Amino acid sequence: MDDSYRHVSLWKDVSSEDWEDWHWQLRNRIYTLDQLKQVIELTPEEEEGVAKRDGRLVMAIPPYWAALMDPKDPNCPIRKQAVPVSGEFNIAEHDMKDPCGEDSDMPVPGLVHRYPDRVLFLVTEQCAMYCRHCTRRRLVGVNHGLMNNHEKTFAYLRAHTEVRDVLISGGDPLMMTDAKLAQVLSKLREIPHIEFIRIGSRTPVTMPQRVTPEFCEVVKQYKPIWMSLHFCHPKEVTPRLKKAMDMLSESGVPLGSQTVLLRGVNDDPATMKKLMHELLKVRVRPYYIYQCDMAQGITHFRTSVETGIRIIESLRGHTTGYAVPTYVIDGPGGGGKIPVNPNYVVSVKDGEVTLRNFEGKTYIYYEPGTEKAGAAVGASSNGNGFSSIPDYVP
Ligand SMILES: *Cc1c(COP(=O)(O)O)cnc(C)c1O
Repeated sequence: MDDSYRHVSLWKDVSSEDWEDWHWQLRNRIYTLDQLKQVIELTPEEEEGVAKRDGRLVMAIPPYWAALMDPKDPNCPIRKQAVPVSGEFNIAEHDMKDPCGEDSDMPVPGLVHRYPDRVLFLVTEQCAMYCRHCTRRRLVGVNHGLMNNHEKTFAYLRAHTEVRDVLISGGDPLMMTDAKLAQVLSKLREIPHIEFIRIGSRTPVTMPQRVTPEFCEVVKQYKPIWMSLHFCHPKEVTPRLKKAMDMLSESGVPLGSQTVLLRGVNDDPATMKKLMHELLKVRVRPYYIYQCDMAQGITHFRTSVETGIRIIESLRGHTTGYAVPTYVIDGPGGGGKIPVNPNYVVSVKDGEVTLRNFEGKTYIYYEPGTEKAGAAVGASSNGNGFSSIPDYVP
Protein backbone atom coordinates (compact mmCIF):
# COMPACT_ATOMS: atom_id res chain seq x y z
CA MET A 1 0.00 0.00 0.00
CA ASP A 2 1.18 3.48 -0.87
CA ASP A 3 0.96 5.65 2.25
CA SER A 4 3.30 8.31 0.97
CA TYR A 5 0.52 10.93 0.71
CA ARG A 6 -0.87 10.97 4.23
CA HIS A 7 1.45 13.78 5.31
CA VAL A 8 -0.58 16.18 3.11
CA SER A 9 -3.53 17.35 5.21
CA LEU A 10 -5.74 17.72 2.13
CA TRP A 11 -5.54 13.97 1.47
CA LYS A 12 -4.79 12.47 4.86
CA ASP A 13 -8.18 10.75 5.04
CA VAL A 14 -8.31 9.53 1.45
CA SER A 15 -8.69 5.76 1.27
CA SER A 16 -6.05 3.78 -0.55
CA GLU A 17 -8.77 2.53 -2.93
CA ASP A 18 -9.48 6.11 -4.00
CA TRP A 19 -5.79 7.02 -4.12
CA GLU A 20 -5.07 4.02 -6.36
CA ASP A 21 -7.93 4.88 -8.73
CA TRP A 22 -6.59 6.92 -11.64
CA HIS A 23 -10.00 8.47 -12.23
CA TRP A 24 -9.94 9.75 -8.64
CA GLN A 25 -6.43 11.10 -9.26
CA LEU A 26 -7.65 12.93 -12.38
CA ARG A 27 -10.78 14.32 -10.73
CA ASN A 28 -8.80 15.59 -7.78
CA ARG A 29 -6.06 17.34 -9.70
CA ILE A 30 -4.98 20.75 -8.43
CA TYR A 31 -6.20 23.51 -10.74
CA THR A 32 -6.47 26.58 -8.53
CA LEU A 33 -4.39 28.83 -6.32
CA ASP A 34 -6.57 28.04 -3.29
CA GLN A 35 -6.06 24.30 -3.69
CA LEU A 36 -2.33 24.68 -4.27
CA LYS A 37 -1.94 26.82 -1.16
CA GLN A 38 -3.17 23.87 0.87
CA VAL A 39 -0.23 21.80 -0.35
CA ILE A 40 2.78 24.13 -0.63
CA GLU A 41 3.97 27.53 0.60
CA LEU A 42 4.04 29.61 -2.57
CA THR A 43 6.69 32.14 -3.53
CA PRO A 44 5.54 35.47 -5.04
CA GLU A 45 6.70 34.24 -8.50
CA GLU A 46 4.63 31.09 -8.17
CA GLU A 47 1.63 32.92 -6.81
CA GLU A 48 1.69 35.34 -9.74
CA GLY A 49 2.26 32.53 -12.26
CA VAL A 50 -0.70 30.54 -10.93
CA ALA A 51 -3.07 33.47 -10.48
CA LYS A 52 -2.45 35.00 -13.90
CA ARG A 53 -3.95 32.08 -15.77
CA ASP A 54 -5.02 33.72 -19.01
CA GLY A 55 -2.67 33.02 -21.86
CA ARG A 56 -0.58 30.35 -20.26
CA LEU A 57 -0.63 26.59 -20.37
CA VAL A 58 -3.22 25.26 -17.91
CA MET A 59 -2.06 23.99 -14.52
CA ALA A 60 -3.22 20.54 -13.45
CA ILE A 61 -1.35 18.51 -10.85
CA PRO A 62 -2.42 14.99 -9.87
CA PRO A 63 -2.41 14.43 -6.09
CA TYR A 64 0.25 11.71 -6.50
CA TRP A 65 2.67 14.23 -8.02
CA ALA A 66 1.65 17.04 -5.67
CA ALA A 67 2.42 14.86 -2.63
CA LEU A 68 6.00 14.51 -3.91
CA MET A 69 6.51 18.28 -3.97
CA ASP A 70 8.52 19.86 -1.15
CA PRO A 71 6.05 22.29 0.49
CA LYS A 72 8.83 24.57 1.74
CA ASP A 73 11.46 24.46 -0.99
CA PRO A 74 10.68 26.47 -4.15
CA ASN A 75 13.73 24.83 -5.79
CA CYS A 76 12.18 21.37 -5.42
CA PRO A 77 12.57 19.76 -8.87
CA ILE A 78 9.16 18.08 -8.66
CA ARG A 79 7.51 21.38 -7.84
CA LYS A 80 9.32 23.34 -10.56
CA GLN A 81 7.99 21.02 -13.25
CA ALA A 82 4.36 21.46 -12.13
CA VAL A 83 3.84 24.93 -10.66
CA PRO A 84 3.74 27.91 -13.05
CA VAL A 85 5.91 30.94 -12.29
CA SER A 86 5.63 34.52 -13.53
CA GLY A 87 8.58 33.83 -15.89
CA GLU A 88 6.20 31.90 -18.16
CA PHE A 89 4.82 35.23 -19.29
CA ASN A 90 8.21 36.44 -20.52
CA ILE A 91 8.54 35.85 -24.23
CA ALA A 92 12.22 36.01 -25.21
CA GLU A 93 13.52 37.23 -28.56
CA HIS A 94 14.08 33.83 -30.16
CA ASP A 95 11.08 32.05 -28.64
CA MET A 96 8.78 30.26 -31.06
CA LYS A 97 5.17 29.14 -30.85
CA ASP A 98 6.01 25.93 -32.68
CA PRO A 99 9.72 25.45 -31.94
CA CYS A 100 10.09 22.10 -33.71
CA GLY A 101 8.19 23.24 -36.80
CA GLU A 102 5.63 20.46 -36.41
CA ASP A 103 2.61 22.32 -37.78
CA SER A 104 4.21 22.72 -41.21
CA ASP A 105 4.96 18.97 -41.40
CA MET A 106 1.36 17.90 -40.77
CA PRO A 107 -0.21 16.34 -43.87
CA VAL A 108 -3.29 15.66 -41.71
CA PRO A 109 -4.11 17.61 -38.52
CA GLY A 110 -2.44 15.85 -35.61
CA LEU A 111 -0.04 13.78 -37.73
CA VAL A 112 3.58 14.90 -38.12
CA HIS A 113 5.38 13.17 -40.99
CA ARG A 114 8.94 14.50 -40.96
CA TYR A 115 11.20 11.49 -41.26
CA PRO A 116 10.98 9.18 -44.25
CA ASP A 117 9.80 6.02 -42.50
CA ARG A 118 8.04 7.14 -39.34
CA VAL A 119 5.35 9.46 -38.06
CA LEU A 120 4.33 11.20 -34.88
CA PHE A 121 0.63 10.64 -34.22
CA LEU A 122 -0.83 13.18 -31.77
CA VAL A 123 -3.95 11.46 -30.44
CA THR A 124 -5.13 13.83 -27.72
CA GLU A 125 -4.55 17.30 -26.24
CA GLN A 126 -4.94 16.05 -22.69
CA CYS A 127 -2.22 15.20 -20.15
CA ALA A 128 -2.44 13.98 -16.56
CA MET A 129 -0.13 16.83 -15.60
CA TYR A 130 0.91 19.83 -17.65
CA CYS A 131 4.70 20.10 -17.45
CA ARG A 132 5.80 23.69 -17.17
CA HIS A 133 8.55 23.03 -19.73
CA CYS A 134 6.13 21.60 -22.32
CA THR A 135 7.33 22.17 -25.89
CA ARG A 136 3.87 21.47 -27.34
CA ARG A 137 2.17 24.03 -25.10
CA ARG A 138 0.58 25.67 -28.15
CA LEU A 139 -1.54 22.56 -28.64
CA VAL A 140 -2.20 20.91 -25.30
CA GLY A 141 -4.54 21.56 -22.38
CA VAL A 142 -7.30 22.96 -24.58
CA ASN A 143 -9.78 21.10 -26.71
CA HIS A 144 -9.56 22.66 -30.15
CA GLY A 145 -10.46 19.54 -32.06
CA LEU A 146 -7.14 19.23 -33.88
CA MET A 147 -6.75 15.65 -32.75
CA ASN A 148 -10.35 14.50 -32.92
CA ASN A 149 -10.42 13.08 -36.39
CA HIS A 150 -8.30 9.95 -36.27
CA GLU A 151 -9.98 8.51 -39.36
CA LYS A 152 -8.10 10.90 -41.64
CA THR A 153 -4.85 9.81 -40.04
CA PHE A 154 -5.62 6.12 -40.53
CA ALA A 155 -6.48 6.81 -44.18
CA TYR A 156 -3.16 8.64 -44.66
CA LEU A 157 -1.23 5.81 -43.01
CA ARG A 158 -2.95 3.15 -45.11
CA ALA A 159 -1.97 5.06 -48.27
CA HIS A 160 1.63 5.74 -47.20
CA THR A 161 3.35 2.39 -47.42
CA GLU A 162 6.72 3.93 -46.58
CA VAL A 163 5.61 4.44 -42.96
CA ARG A 164 6.85 1.50 -40.89
CA ASP A 165 6.97 3.21 -37.46
CA VAL A 166 4.21 5.09 -35.62
CA LEU A 167 4.91 7.05 -32.46
CA ILE A 168 1.66 7.66 -30.60
CA SER A 169 1.90 10.81 -28.52
CA GLY A 170 -0.06 13.98 -27.75
CA GLY A 171 -0.87 15.36 -25.16
CA ASP A 172 -0.68 12.00 -23.53
CA PRO A 173 -2.12 8.84 -25.12
CA LEU A 174 -2.72 7.38 -21.66
CA MET A 175 -5.44 9.98 -21.14
CA MET A 176 -7.54 7.90 -23.51
CA THR A 177 -9.59 5.10 -22.01
CA ASP A 178 -8.26 1.58 -22.44
CA ALA A 179 -11.05 0.91 -24.95
CA LYS A 180 -10.16 3.94 -27.07
CA LEU A 181 -6.46 3.15 -26.94
CA ALA A 182 -7.19 -0.45 -27.93
CA GLN A 183 -9.16 0.85 -30.89
CA VAL A 184 -6.23 3.01 -32.06
CA LEU A 185 -3.77 0.14 -31.66
CA SER A 186 -6.06 -2.27 -33.44
CA LYS A 187 -6.47 0.10 -36.41
CA LEU A 188 -2.69 0.50 -36.66
CA ARG A 189 -2.11 -3.26 -36.41
CA GLU A 190 -4.45 -3.76 -39.38
CA ILE A 191 -2.06 -1.78 -41.59
CA PRO A 192 0.44 -4.33 -42.92
CA HIS A 193 3.41 -2.00 -43.52
CA ILE A 194 3.39 -0.66 -39.94
CA GLU A 195 5.86 -2.85 -38.11
CA PHE A 196 6.83 -0.73 -35.11
CA ILE A 197 4.45 0.98 -32.67
CA ARG A 198 5.49 2.97 -29.64
CA ILE A 199 3.62 5.11 -27.13
CA GLY A 200 5.20 8.31 -25.81
CA SER A 201 3.80 9.10 -22.38
CA ARG A 202 4.51 10.83 -19.11
CA THR A 203 1.44 9.59 -17.28
CA PRO A 204 3.11 6.51 -15.73
CA VAL A 205 5.55 8.97 -14.13
CA THR A 206 3.15 11.71 -13.03
CA MET A 207 0.29 9.34 -12.13
CA PRO A 208 1.48 5.70 -11.99
CA GLN A 209 -2.02 4.58 -10.94
CA ARG A 210 -2.89 4.73 -14.65
CA VAL A 211 -0.86 1.57 -15.25
CA THR A 212 -3.60 -0.90 -14.35
CA PRO A 213 -3.82 -4.64 -15.07
CA GLU A 214 -6.45 -3.73 -17.71
CA PHE A 215 -4.04 -1.34 -19.44
CA CYS A 216 -1.37 -4.05 -19.38
CA GLU A 217 -3.82 -6.42 -21.08
CA VAL A 218 -4.24 -3.90 -23.91
CA VAL A 219 -0.51 -3.54 -24.55
CA LYS A 220 -0.12 -7.31 -24.40
CA GLN A 221 -2.95 -7.82 -26.85
CA TYR A 222 -1.30 -5.59 -29.48
CA LYS A 223 2.28 -6.60 -28.73
CA PRO A 224 4.98 -5.68 -29.36
CA ILE A 225 4.36 -2.16 -28.06
CA TRP A 226 7.32 -0.07 -26.94
CA MET A 227 7.03 2.89 -24.59
CA SER A 228 9.05 6.10 -24.30
CA LEU A 229 8.52 7.66 -20.89
CA HIS A 230 9.38 11.18 -19.85
CA PHE A 231 11.54 11.41 -16.70
CA CYS A 232 13.46 14.48 -15.51
CA HIS A 233 14.66 13.87 -11.96
CA PRO A 234 15.72 10.91 -9.78
CA LYS A 235 13.02 11.85 -7.23
CA GLU A 236 10.45 10.70 -9.79
CA VAL A 237 11.60 7.12 -9.33
CA THR A 238 9.51 6.27 -6.25
CA PRO A 239 8.48 2.84 -4.92
CA ARG A 240 5.02 3.43 -6.46
CA LEU A 241 6.60 4.29 -9.82
CA LYS A 242 8.70 1.13 -9.63
CA LYS A 243 5.54 -0.95 -9.27
CA ALA A 244 4.16 0.56 -12.49
CA MET A 245 7.45 -0.05 -14.33
CA ASP A 246 7.48 -3.68 -13.13
CA MET A 247 3.94 -4.16 -14.45
CA LEU A 248 4.88 -2.73 -17.85
CA SER A 249 8.12 -4.71 -18.11
CA GLU A 250 6.39 -7.88 -17.07
CA SER A 251 3.79 -7.24 -19.77
CA GLY A 252 6.61 -7.34 -22.30
CA VAL A 253 6.85 -3.60 -22.97
CA PRO A 254 10.42 -2.38 -23.64
CA LEU A 255 10.80 0.93 -21.80
CA GLY A 256 12.90 3.93 -22.80
CA SER A 257 13.24 7.34 -21.21
CA GLN A 258 13.31 10.83 -22.62
CA THR A 259 14.68 13.58 -20.41
CA VAL A 260 14.55 17.32 -21.02
CA LEU A 261 17.63 19.16 -19.82
CA LEU A 262 16.18 21.75 -17.42
CA ARG A 263 17.91 24.54 -15.58
CA GLY A 264 17.60 24.14 -11.83
CA VAL A 265 16.08 20.67 -12.19
CA ASN A 266 18.68 18.33 -13.69
CA ASP A 267 21.41 20.50 -15.24
CA ASP A 268 24.31 19.02 -13.34
CA PRO A 269 26.21 15.77 -13.97
CA ALA A 270 25.57 14.26 -10.52
CA THR A 271 21.76 14.62 -10.74
CA MET A 272 21.69 13.32 -14.30
CA LYS A 273 23.89 10.32 -13.48
CA LYS A 274 21.70 9.49 -10.48
CA LEU A 275 18.59 9.69 -12.69
CA MET A 276 20.11 7.34 -15.29
CA HIS A 277 21.06 4.85 -12.58
CA GLU A 278 17.60 4.98 -11.01
CA LEU A 279 16.07 4.35 -14.45
CA LEU A 280 18.21 1.26 -15.09
CA LYS A 281 17.14 -0.10 -11.70
CA VAL A 282 13.49 -0.02 -12.83
CA ARG A 283 14.34 -1.45 -16.31
CA VAL A 284 14.01 1.82 -18.21
CA ARG A 285 16.75 2.33 -20.82
CA PRO A 286 17.79 6.00 -21.14
CA TYR A 287 17.03 6.95 -24.76
CA TYR A 288 17.30 10.71 -25.26
CA ILE A 289 18.32 13.83 -23.39
CA TYR A 290 16.71 16.80 -25.14
CA GLN A 291 18.09 20.28 -25.15
CA CYS A 292 15.16 22.42 -23.95
CA ASP A 293 13.32 23.78 -27.01
CA MET A 294 12.88 27.49 -27.72
CA ALA A 295 9.17 27.36 -26.91
CA GLN A 296 7.48 30.54 -25.73
CA GLY A 297 7.73 31.27 -22.03
CA ILE A 298 10.18 28.57 -20.97
CA THR A 299 13.45 30.44 -21.36
CA HIS A 300 13.99 30.23 -17.59
CA PHE A 301 14.33 26.46 -18.02
CA ARG A 302 16.96 26.61 -20.76
CA THR A 303 20.67 25.88 -20.27
CA SER A 304 23.69 26.30 -22.52
CA VAL A 305 24.46 23.48 -24.97
CA GLU A 306 27.85 23.19 -23.26
CA THR A 307 25.99 22.04 -20.12
CA GLY A 308 24.50 19.10 -22.01
CA ILE A 309 27.80 18.14 -23.59
CA ARG A 310 29.46 18.19 -20.17
CA ILE A 311 26.77 15.88 -18.84
CA ILE A 312 27.31 13.33 -21.62
CA GLU A 313 31.06 13.59 -21.07
CA SER A 314 30.49 12.81 -17.37
CA LEU A 315 28.51 9.68 -18.24
CA ARG A 316 30.29 8.01 -21.18
CA GLY A 317 33.00 5.69 -19.88
CA HIS A 318 32.33 6.71 -16.30
CA THR A 319 29.27 4.54 -15.95
CA THR A 320 27.32 1.69 -17.58
CA GLY A 321 26.92 2.20 -21.31
CA TYR A 322 23.20 1.50 -21.00
CA ALA A 323 22.99 4.57 -18.74
CA VAL A 324 24.19 6.90 -21.49
CA PRO A 325 21.39 8.38 -23.63
CA THR A 326 21.85 10.35 -26.84
CA TYR A 327 21.85 14.10 -26.33
CA VAL A 328 19.90 15.84 -29.11
CA ILE A 329 18.69 19.25 -30.14
CA ASP A 330 15.47 19.32 -32.11
CA GLY A 331 16.50 21.59 -34.99
CA PRO A 332 14.48 24.80 -34.50
CA GLY A 333 11.90 25.25 -37.21
CA GLY A 334 11.74 21.58 -38.19
CA GLY A 335 15.24 20.07 -38.51
CA GLY A 336 14.44 16.96 -36.51
CA LYS A 337 16.61 15.53 -33.78
CA ILE A 338 20.26 16.41 -34.20
CA PRO A 339 22.76 14.56 -31.99
CA VAL A 340 25.23 16.71 -30.08
CA ASN A 341 28.20 14.88 -28.65
CA PRO A 342 31.49 15.54 -26.99
CA ASN A 343 34.16 15.18 -29.68
CA TYR A 344 36.37 12.17 -29.08
CA VAL A 345 38.15 12.33 -32.47
CA VAL A 346 41.19 14.57 -31.96
CA SER A 347 42.44 14.39 -35.56
CA VAL A 348 42.32 12.31 -38.74
CA LYS A 349 45.40 12.46 -40.97
CA ASP A 350 46.54 10.00 -43.69
CA GLY A 351 44.61 7.16 -42.14
CA GLU A 352 45.92 7.91 -38.68
CA VAL A 353 42.99 8.58 -36.38
CA THR A 354 43.85 10.15 -33.05
CA LEU A 355 41.21 9.57 -30.40
CA ARG A 356 40.86 10.55 -26.81
CA ASN A 357 39.16 8.34 -24.25
CA PHE A 358 36.93 9.25 -21.31
CA GLU A 359 39.99 9.95 -19.16
CA GLY A 360 41.53 12.27 -21.73
CA LYS A 361 44.30 9.83 -22.80
CA THR A 362 45.00 9.66 -26.54
CA TYR A 363 45.10 6.57 -28.73
CA ILE A 364 45.91 6.07 -32.40
CA TYR A 365 43.80 3.89 -34.69
CA TYR A 366 45.38 3.05 -38.09
CA GLU A 367 42.84 2.69 -40.87
CA PRO A 368 43.39 -0.13 -43.39
CA GLY A 369 45.66 0.86 -46.26
CA THR A 370 48.16 2.64 -44.04
CA GLU A 371 50.56 -0.35 -43.75
CA LYS A 372 54.13 0.22 -45.03
CA ALA A 373 54.91 -1.86 -48.15
CA GLY A 374 56.74 -5.11 -47.37
CA ALA A 375 55.70 -5.30 -43.75
CA ALA A 376 55.53 -8.85 -42.51
CA VAL A 377 52.17 -10.53 -42.85
CA GLY A 378 51.22 -13.37 -40.55
CA ALA A 379 54.25 -12.94 -38.30
CA SER A 380 54.43 -15.51 -35.57
CA SER A 381 54.05 -13.16 -32.65
CA ASN A 382 51.85 -10.15 -32.27
CA GLY A 383 53.17 -9.45 -28.81
CA ASN A 384 50.08 -10.41 -26.87
CA GLY A 385 51.21 -13.94 -26.11
CA PHE A 386 48.35 -15.70 -27.87
CA SER A 387 49.57 -16.00 -31.47
CA SER A 388 51.65 -19.14 -30.92
CA ILE A 389 48.59 -21.17 -29.94
CA PRO A 390 47.51 -23.07 -33.07
CA ASP A 391 43.95 -22.82 -34.28
CA TYR A 392 41.82 -25.68 -33.04
CA VAL A 393 41.33 -28.28 -35.75
CA PRO A 394 38.77 -30.98 -35.00
C1 LIG B 1 11.04 12.38 -32.24
C2 LIG B 1 10.24 12.25 -33.43
C3 LIG B 1 10.10 11.02 -34.07
C4 LIG B 1 10.80 9.77 -33.56
O1 LIG B 1 12.20 9.90 -33.67
P1 LIG B 1 13.17 8.73 -33.20
O2 LIG B 1 14.55 9.30 -33.32
O3 LIG B 1 12.93 7.57 -34.10
O4 LIG B 1 12.81 8.41 -31.78
C5 LIG B 1 9.33 10.96 -35.20
N1 LIG B 1 8.73 12.05 -35.71
C6 LIG B 1 8.85 13.26 -35.13
C7 LIG B 1 8.20 14.43 -35.75
C8 LIG B 1 9.61 13.40 -33.97
O5 LIG B 1 9.72 14.60 -33.39
